[in-house]
Amino acid sequence: MSYSNPFKRDAILVGGEWIGAESGETINVTNPANGDVIGTVPKAGKAETRRAIEVAAAAFESFKATTAKERAEMLRRMHDVMKDNVDVLAELLTIEMGKPLAEAKGEINIGAEYLLWFAEEARRMYGEVVPSPWADRRILTRKEPIGVVGAITPWNFPSSMLARKIGPAIAAGCTSVCKPASQTPYSALAWGVIGERAGLPEGVINIVTGSASEIGKELCSNETVRKITFTGSTPVGRTLLKQCAGTVKKTSMELGGNAPFIVFNSADIDAAVEGAMAAKYRNSGQTCVCVNRFYVQSKIYNEFCEKLAKKASQLKVGDGTEDGTQQGPLIGEKAVETVEAFIEDATKKGGEILTGGKRHALGHSFFEPTVIKNAKKSMKFTSDEIFGPIAPIYRFTKEEDVIARANDTIYGLACYFYTQDLGQAFRVMEGLEYGLVGINEGIITTPEVPFGGVKQSGLGSEGGSQGIDEYLETKYVNIGGLGV
Ligand code: NAP
Repeated sequence: MSYSNPFKRDAILVGGEWIGAESGETINVTNPANGDVIGTVPKAGKAETRRAIEVAAAAFESFKATTAKERAEMLRRMHDVMKDNVDVLAELLTIEMGKPLAEAKGEINIGAEYLLWFAEEARRMYGEVVPSPWADRRILTRKEPIGVVGAITPWNFPSSMLARKIGPAIAAGCTSVCKPASQTPYSALAWGVIGERAGLPEGVINIVTGSASEIGKELCSNETVRKITFTGSTPVGRTLLKQCAGTVKKTSMELGGNAPFIVFNSADIDAAVEGAMAAKYRNSGQTCVCVNRFYVQSKIYNEFCEKLAKKASQLKVGDGTEDGTQQGPLIGEKAVETVEAFIEDATKKGGEILTGGKRHALGHSFFEPTVIKNAKKSMKFTSDEIFGPIAPIYRFTKEEDVIARANDTIYGLACYFYTQDLGQAFRVMEGLEYGLVGINEGIITTPEVPFGGVKQSGLGSEGGSQGIDEYLETKYVNIGGLGV
């Protein structure tokens, strides 16, 4: 049964036109809460992507000449369209992705906040007048938009991950070709409707759904595309980096994580449990900053495990559109199988399930919030991203050991720790090799700050004063013959 929503489009957007794939082929989009097909989107490929790049390049010629103030106003109007339609946009998001409506509304709201932030940043793209070493010359630098941007996004935040790319791209004066995840294309296509309602010039945002490998390859290898911004898994990020090498593109990579959450003996345990719930079970554990490994110091280990298990067992699992739901389904059957494999591996190696551990009675891709005690280094989740509602809890005794264990991963996106000891707070913060650190807080994302990982969690930052720089080039100008 097809689902209707004023922001839902079953077509791709190329140069202001909503069209199908040349082949006429489509992809089914399903609601993970009940398996219903909610619609179909075009299965586009190389030809449509190339066309979208051409129209984005044509649009760039006039868009780059708009003033920062004009672009800021466009972003503000897009922000207003989102704020006026939070409920319908959130419903569309929940229907295709599964997260509870309250979380979906939060995602739409923070996406709108990113637009506002970048509307403000657009007007602060300052260049410099550099003190000249030559008496008869003057030196300037100016910031210029990089050009056509290719943006590829995942299914877990299908709206806000694009806000963090479209917002700075427009602020800088760039045009873009976006490729959303095939499981959640509608929240991305909704960006086309938001742009239309806000009076964005045609061709500034183009959105192509379909074959990831074909679209990705064209975006990465096409010389007209000057930058690739990607949010998704580290393996796909590596592929895209290789594909971009041929045309030496600027890249931003927001990749996977393996977040540690450390609780020291001195911590306020109840506050740590609160923070743990938010940092672990939000979006059913399917976020790049979700906790992958809990490390709890010996003296408080049992108490923390029991309290977290009790809270996790009380989470209301259900269809995200129903009132009071706190955990929706996982994105699909494959995600459930992955989570089951983590649990099987852990129990074989001595992990003790305190709560959950199996598929939820609701069926489909619902899974019980799970807590596993006695986690050990040999278990799979020590090194691999879980992306599901499992909280493995490891025991530790010494501060220096836990810092080393927390850093023993290829990833370096988010980490969290709880302590009441100020000296320890600084020592541990400085020792952790991560891009984002939450101290006594489990939710830390906001548009004002740079969001980005180190090591194999990525390159570059989204948000903050740094976010717009990813879409700008610095031009140096040397003016001579000025006399002394
Ligand atoms: P994914 O499998 O890497 O897919 C992400 C996007 O890449 C989708 O649009 C996908 O398209 C596309 N894609 C897949 N293979 C491709 C290829 N060969 N060429 C070009 N594009 C390709 O990741 P996911 O499962 O959607 O998302 C989960 C991952 O994203 C996790 O690792 C998570 O940590 C990470 N993530 C990171 C951040 C961050 O800010 N660091 C934020 C959110 C998520 P199809 O859907 O059509 O396959």
